[in-house]
Amino acid sequence: IMAAPLRVLVTGAAGQIGYSIVLQIAKGDVFGKDTPIVLVLLDIPPMAPVLEGVQFELIDCALANLNGVEAVTNEKDAFTNIDYAFLVGAMPRKEGMERKDLLAANVRIFKSQGKALADYAKPTTKVIVVGNPANTNAFICAKYAAGKIPARNFSAMTRLDHNRASAQVALKAGVTVGNVKNVIIWGNHSSTQFPDVRHAKVTKGGAEVDAYTAVGDAAWLQSGFISTVQKRGGVIIERRKLSSAMSAAKAACDHIHDWYRGTTAGQWVSMAVPSDGSYGIPEGLIFSFPVTIANGDWKIVQGLDLDDFSKQKIALTTKELEEERDEALAACESDSKQ
Ligand code: NAD
Repeated sequence: IMAAPLRVLVTGAAGQIGYSIVLQIAKGDVFGKDTPIVLVLLDIPPMAPVLEGVQFELIDCALANLNGVEAVTNEKDAFTNIDYAFLVGAMPRKEGMERKDLLAANVRIFKSQGKALADYAKPTTKVIVVGNPANTNAFICAKYAAGKIPARNFSAMTRLDHNRASAQVALKAGVTVGNVKNVIIWGNHSSTQFPDVRHAKVTKGGAEVDAYTAVGDAAWLQSGFISTVQKRGGVIIERRKLSSAMSAAKAACDHIHDWYRGTTAGQWVSMAVPSDGSYGIPEGLIFSFPVTIANGDWKIVQGLDLDDFSKQKIALTTKELEEERDEALAACESDSKQ
């Protein structure tokens, strides 16, 4: 007997990342090419024709495991009975918009989607938030889905930052990226994130060494490397005139792939998940940590020692996330009073 297909939702599916991600999911990069899936594509009503175009193209891809593609513009149809949600759609920053206005606009979207998850999705649904500000959007979404879906089923994407960090180390060490493991992104998916290679390992010349030995440039690892990873998104926009989409889509697929399949023994990945107080991070904050995954369950890697440099960087990104959280909660309240 064939298992029931997984219902996989992608929001913002008429957007840039949407266009890159749907084929990767549909052809099995995430759940395997023998796992039957139904893709549910959500965007806002004005995007319905574009969404339909994407739906038609997916049909034309003639994929054996793709049991259906649904293009929808309302939350009930989008969230009903889903197993996984890629929450990509978000309000983009418009000219003249303050950071605060952007946060408030997104809080409204993710509050509504959190409620829709509670009302229509399965209690086992797993969620990755890609839309920015990703960590805080995930926090709000989890808050409004609570009671039905546990907070640990909510995550935000820092895997793109993780992949960027691994790739930079590989380039500098003169190895391919498969030879780099256990970089860490701590904190917020923003320019305060802390890309940390103190515990990373590189296989070079047949031996496994630490990243500092493999790279041979400590000064670069403590400054140029960090700012390159932190600012990479901006550099892509400057060059492409559009934000990262191919690499963001690939990273979101890596994130859910590993959550579904588990991490390789001896390796961890970075995922923004609700803090349990590990490393002194306030409980509940959606914070990027190193995690290992088995049987669909993530665990924050414990016992890594942090030097003063790391502690300072982590404090900075924690403070930013606490401020974002408080602003978002205030926006939720004023929204409820309206
Ligand atoms: P985009 O503007 O091309 O697409 C976004 C889509 O979302 C649009 O089609 C829009 O209509 C839709 N949308 C807006 N509100 C919606 C709602 N309430 N429900 C459903 N759909 C809605 O943007 P993009 O380049 O695809 O990026 C999407 C998001 O991902 C942005 O917020 C971007 O900042 C973020 N991003 C995050 C990372 C990360 O590493 N976490 C990396 C890259 C981009």
